[in-house]
Amino acid sequence: MMAFATNVAERVTHQMAADIVVIGSGPGGAVAAMLCAEAGKSVLLVEEGPNLPLQWPPHFSSEEILHKYRNAGVNVALGTTQISYVEGCCVGGGSEVNRGLYHRTPAYILDAWRDDFDVRHLTLDELMPHFLACEEIARVEYLPGEASSISKRLYEGAKSLGWLAIEAPRLYRYTGRGGSKQSMSETFVPRFLRAGGRLIANTAIRRLTMRGGKWRLDARHAPANGAPQPVEISAATVFVACGAVQTPALLRRSGLRRNVGNSLRFHPMLKVAAEFDEEVNIPGDFDPVHQIKEFEPNFGMGCSISSQALLALALANRADFLAHVGNRWRHMGIYYVQTTGGRATVRNLPFFRDPLVRVQHSEWDLLQYGQGLRRLAEALFAAGAVAVYPCLRDYPVLRSMADVCKWPESLPKEAIGPTSVHVFASCPMGENAKSAADSFGRVREADGLYITDASVLCGPTVVNPQGTVMAIAHRNAMHAIESRFT
Ligand SMILES: Cc1cc2nc3c(=O)[nH]c(=O)nc-3n(C[C@H](O)[C@H](O)[C@H](O)COP(=O)(O)OP(=O)(O)OC[C@H]3O[C@@H](n4cnc5c(N)ncnc54)[C@H](O)[C@@H]3O)c2cc1C
Repeated sequence: MMAFATNVAERVTHQMAADIVVIGSGPGGAVAAMLCAEAGKSVLLVEEGPNLPLQWPPHFSSEEILHKYRNAGVNVALGTTQISYVEGCCVGGGSEVNRGLYHRTPAYILDAWRDDFDVRHLTLDELMPHFLACEEIARVEYLPGEASSISKRLYEGAKSLGWLAIEAPRLYRYTGRGGSKQSMSETFVPRFLRAGGRLIANTAIRRLTMRGGKWRLDARHAPANGAPQPVEISAATVFVACGAVQTPALLRRSGLRRNVGNSLRFHPMLKVAAEFDEEVNIPGDFDPVHQIKEFEPNFGMGCSISSQALLALALANRADFLAHVGNRWRHMGIYYVQTTGGRATVRNLPFFRDPLVRVQHSEWDLLQYGQGLRRLAEALFAAGAVAVYPCLRDYPVLRSMADVCKWPESLPKEAIGPTSVHVFASCPMGENAKSAADSFGRVREADGLYITDASVLCGPTVVNPQGTVMAIAHRNAMHAIESRFT
């Protein structure tokens, strides 16, 4: 395994202390940690996963899934319609493994959050300085050249139907055909270290306790080569940023349960593979970036990485087509429809390390899956597809619009198994009886405890969420620094 050149390795000892501890180094934690370190505080950033370079293991490889994803990418929200979800577990969290598709939060989403949870000071104008500050550190760019054919097909199909479609920008610094994703390990974490912050990886916080006016954090350091060891960390101020599933699990283990882990939300996706007469899937092309916005907020659509291996994986429950994928993968691309369905709870179970996540879908949610898939197939046929293979067990191959019209309006609960890479809203912020933290992420009944990750969002962002997570973390950390330390 390669060493991580930019890591200032902090020696882990049995007892450690700092003014501020930030738990979790994903977009929420890295942004908050950097701001606190630059405010002159002694800050310890604690990450459960390993500290690996952005470039290793290679992006979209099976090694990446093994080394950088939680539980090697196998996590399920159980229910009649279950959702398989993945999360990053490494320094930088989800930003290391994602594609960095970037959006600011739509104003109508922030309006709804203010109405539903009585969140103070959360208009788009008020959030704008935080977007701009984050975008200055993690660059957001459009493609410098022509998009890949699989990406353009989706856009052209939508346009020919008169639908709204866009190229989404990415957290990416392009140099020619290559470049570097602006993940946390490339942006906020190095800047945090330059400001004197300390980072320890392979260290999971198990519980928080308030003793003698300070937080005591029970941790377990599990180095790649060496025996696990217990560590106790103390700090007066703690930012929790473990991601939308692990943050409520940690808070609940620590006895903090008010509105914690009752409202987890997803962007569940259903996928199809589309086949075209022409070759559209050319290795070395830019990653796909086009998205259909016409039907948001009910559902959006996009194009996934479509390597031969990922196409085979997408159609794994359709064994009859695997040989066909082997022969025709250059003519095929993976596309998805993404909804906001499912509401879940997060609960700890005795003796289990990971929490139990249970999800329920409404009739409306099931209707959106069905309608979304119909619209996606419609766009792909308009783009010239000759066949659309739904990645659903027992669903027929669609060969024309006539087949699309036979598709059921609402999909049966048991037939679908959506996946999700976006999780949030398990500990919503706000001032009313539904919120787990105040309007700026401060946990009310716990002095000096803040939540600064995707957990504090008040619902689905509809657009890709990392931009929102970073801007809200920036806003909430600035507010905490100003109100607590000045
Ligand atoms: C495959 C994939 C693709 C995605 N694509 C996009 C995209 O293109 N655009 C976009 O906007 N969003 C995308 N996302 C979502 C985006 O990455 C997340 O919204 C974002 O990372 C959430 O940030 P976070 O800080 O809340 O949590 P995370 O990024 O999940 O970070 C939490 C960190 O905390 C650590 N941690 C957890 N528990 C503990 C503990 N007890 N002690 C110490 N550390 C702990 C975890 O290991 C993790 O590193 C994608 C996500 C994935 C997984």
